[in-house]
Amino acid sequence: MTSVTTERPPKGYGAGFQNTTSTAEQRSAAGLIVKLQQVTKVYANGSRALVDVNLQIRRGDFLFVTGPSGSGKSTLLKLLYGEERVTQGKVTVNDYDLTHLRGNHLSKLRRQIGVVFQDYKLIPRRTVAENVAFVLWAQGFTRKEIHRRLTPTLKMVGLQDKAECFPEQLSGGEQQRVSIARAIVSTPPILLADEPTGNLDIDNSWQVIQILKKLNSIGITVIVTTHDEHLVRLSNHPVVQIRNGRLFHARL
Ligand code: ADP
Repeated sequence: MTSVTTERPPKGYGAGFQNTTSTAEQRSAAGLIVKLQQVTKVYANGSRALVDVNLQIRRGDFLFVTGPSGSGKSTLLKLLYGEERVTQGKVTVNDYDLTHLRGNHLSKLRRQIGVVFQDYKLIPRRTVAENVAFVLWAQGFTRKEIHRRLTPTLKMVGLQDKAECFPEQLSGGEQQRVSIARAIVSTPPILLADEPTGNLDIDNSWQVIQILKKLNSIGITVIVTTHDEHLVRLSNHPVVQIRNGRLFHARL
């Protein structure tokens, strides 16, 4: 079975980023947070995006998923946050079996997963602060709690001075950092980033990776897809590669 683990112990969140998980969950922190067992995904048009994929990711890990465009990277992430369902096999995320997960249970799982996309997906007519706060507001957080979380989160991504700017007033790198802030403001234990550097130059890409590393260092499990082999080589994190829907170890 393909298994990806590191020797590092699981970590709790740092100051300003209090973990929302219970003590019992923290106690099981040494366990697996993601498990794919013989997963195959065939889309309705017959496209085989993933074939017999086995993967284990431990709490607190940082994993790169590489591979050429069209190899199945996005599909893998979509299966993890329930955007797509497996055709065969089993996906478990944070103790949820995604095979039949629907309705409230799926929403509950999704609240434990932050997602960052290549194209940022910010609300254009909302400020940086509003874009980030919106997630908390939608999840029913109080105004006081939203206020308490906003500043440390923007600081975390180096955007505390841009809180009142609109997305169009920001560079691509800054917009991506807003989308990272939005993904982590509710302190999810898992962060999925789908080609987060795909639209960025090398400096901004590296900055984004540094932020993802920082988030990982305070306990968030981070899974990043990229087709940028250079970026992966600059880092020392475990890497798996997908080619034609099949998963291979590239570096553990
Ligand atoms: P990557 O993220 O590596 O670029 P994807 O996971 O997006 O790859 O796609 C893997 C394969 O699945 C490709 O052949 C792609 O065309 C196909 N695919 C992705 N999404 C769909 C979909 N919604 N319907 C049909 N085929 C899809």
